[in-house]
Amino acid sequence: MSFSNAPITNISALNERRDIGPTLSIVVPFYNESEVLAEFHQRLSWVLTQINGTTEIIYVDDGSVDGSLEIVKKFSAANCTIKCIELSRNFGKESAMSAGLNHAKGQAVIMIDADLQDPPELIPKMLCKWRAGIDVVNMKRTSRRGESWLKRFSAGCFYKLLNKMTPLNVPENVGDFRLMSSKVVQHINALPERTRYMKGIFAWPGFNHTTVEFERDARYLGQTKWNYLKLIGLAMDGITSFSIRPLRLATILGALIASSAFVYGLVIITKTLAFGEVVSGYPSTMVVQLALGGVQLLSIGLLGEYIGRIFVEVKQRPLYLVAHVHHCNQTQNSTEVPSLREKA
Ligand code: UDP
Ligand code: MG
Repeated sequence: MSFSNAPITNISALNERRDIGPTLSIVVPFYNESEVLAEFHQRLSWVLTQINGTTEIIYVDDGSVDGSLEIVKKFSAANCTIKCIELSRNFGKESAMSAGLNHAKGQAVIMIDADLQDPPELIPKMLCKWRAGIDVVNMKRTSRRGESWLKRFSAGCFYKLLNKMTPLNVPENVGDFRLMSSKVVQHINALPERTRYMKGIFAWPGFNHTTVEFERDARYLGQTKWNYLKLIGLAMDGITSFSIRPLRLATILGALIASSAFVYGLVIITKTLAFGEVVSGYPSTMVVQLALGGVQLLSIGLLGEYIGRIFVEVKQRPLYLVAHVHHCNQTQNSTEVPSLREKA
C-alpha cells in the first residue's frame, strides 16, 4: 500500500520529471462504470490518435465492485501509455481525482469523467488553448441534459452562495472537466489539506485561464453516484474549507440579536415601572425563546462543522491508499511504505 498525502515540497525536482513526461495526461476517475468504460475508452483513444504529441491515460479505480477494474486492466495491459491506479477501497471522487493528479506526468493534464457526459472530442480544442499559453481551460456546461430541474436549480443556488461566501471565484456550471498545465497541477498536489473540494481547489491557484462552453450530454449508461445527501455534504465542504464567513455571519447575527434584546429589555422595564407589573406577554416570550434557541443551535452546528474539519485535518490520514498500479502487462504492488509484517 502506498500513502498518498506526502505534499510535494521539491517542485524543481518535479519540473524535471515533467519535462521528460508526455505532452498530455488524461485522468479518469471511475467507480462502478463497467457499462460505459469500453465505449468511453474507444472514443478517448480515437481522439488521442488525432493529437500532436505524446499522451498517457491515468485511470483511477475508486474501489469498483462491478468488474470495471478488470476491463481497465485489459486496456493497460495492451498499451504502455495507459496506467490504472487501483485504490484500496472507495474513497470518493475528490480523493480519486487527487490520486490521478499525483500520478500524472504530463505537461498538461485533463480531468474527465468516465460516463461520457464530458465529450472526449473536445480534448484537441482544450489542448489548442494550452498551446496558446493558457494554464487552465475551464469547460462550462451550457446545458445539463439528463439532470432534473431540482438538481439544476440547487446547483445554481449553491454556486451563488459559494461565491458570496468565499473569496474564490468558482465559475458557475464548470465541473471537474478541465485542462490544467503541469505548473497548476504541481501547486494543487502541494496542498496538504484533507478536505478536498476539488472545484474550489482547482480555482485556488489562479493563473491565466479561459472558459470554453460545451453542451453536456446525458450519462451514456448507468446511474449517477451522487445523491442529495452526498451533494449537501460536498456543498458544506466547499463552503467551510474555503471560508470562515459563515462564522462571521453567526457572530454578526448574535450581536444583532443581543442588542435588540437589550433594547427590548429596556422597553419592558420602562413599561413595568410606568404601568406596574402586568403578567402577560406569553406569545412574545415564546417567540423570543424559540428564535434565540434556533439561532444558537444553528451557530453551534456551524461551529461543529468547522471543528469536524479541524478533526479530519489533525488526524493527518492519507487521502487514499493505492493497492496496485496496473501498467503494461505488469502489476506493481505499492511498496513505498514498508508493511507492518516486515517490521515485526
Ligand atoms: N466517481 C468516482 N468515485 C465515486 C463516485 C463517482 O470515481 O465515489 C466517478 C464516476 O465513475 C464518474 C465521475 O466520478 O466517472 C462522475 O460521477 P457521476 O457521473 O456519478 O457524477 P455526476 O456526473 O452525476 O455529477
Ligand atoms: Mg456523470
